Amino acid sequence: MGAYETDAVVLRTIRYGEADAVLSVYTRERGRVSAIAKGARKSTSKLGGRLQPGVLVHLMLHEGRGDMATVRGAQMVRTHAGLWVEGYRLRAAGCVLETALRGLPEHEASDETFNLLVRTLDLLAEAPPRTTEPRLEPLVLGFAVKLLVVGGLLPRLGSCAACGVGPPLVGFSAQAGGALCPSCARMGEPLDPHVLDAYAGLVGRPLAEAADACPAGAAMGVERLVGLSLREHLGVTLRSATPV
Ligand SMILES: [Zn+2]
Repeated sequence: MGAYETDAVVLRTIRYGEADAVLSVYTRERGRVSAIAKGARKSTSKLGGRLQPGVLVHLMLHEGRGDMATVRGAQMVRTHAGLWVEGYRLRAAGCVLETALRGLPEHEASDETFNLLVRTLDLLAEAPPRTTEPRLEPLVLGFAVKLLVVGGLLPRLGSCAACGVGPPLVGFSAQAGGALCPSCARMGEPLDPHVLDAYAGLVGRPLAEAADACPAGAAMGVERLVGLSLREHLGVTLRSATPV
């Protein structure tokens, strides 16, 4: 209850009533919260143009009795303008925001997660457009992989998740907790060694090196493993992802 200020990334905005907007934001102070911005869609609103998905803003919020906070003020911190001038980047950012919206629990703050989300959008706003699907963008996959790491949900990749023996690892099962050796591989699905390398690279290398860590040929495989892990650990199935 009460008023507070926080940096926040706008994840989603939904029109509400005549002129209001309901926002889902990921805040540094309180994690993911919903907030209503009254009058945000009036042409005279000082808030309206600022609260687009993907922007980093400093918000003044007031929490009343209900579930939803009220936006009392907003100052732009970073517009991430590069997202809006390039369709590929905008759609890739949409995948990141959707993962955050569906994968991050409400009212659970994490500095690491907040910094990861902001860093991903910073990099995406300047990322070179690719000819592949935006959901396979290395930064999109890198964000999801690092989100699992931050959440302590990372699959085991260096040794068999079922029996513990070292490489070679030829299978994967999110339920078992990661990669599988030849003897245990029947518990999961086949794992391409290039996909395992790419996944491990996205875990271990900085986000800025995501494109080097994850070559285009491995992206679909990584996306599948990430999807299996998100579904297993967070119960999340992403609409933007390939069905798993
Ligand atoms: Zn094994």
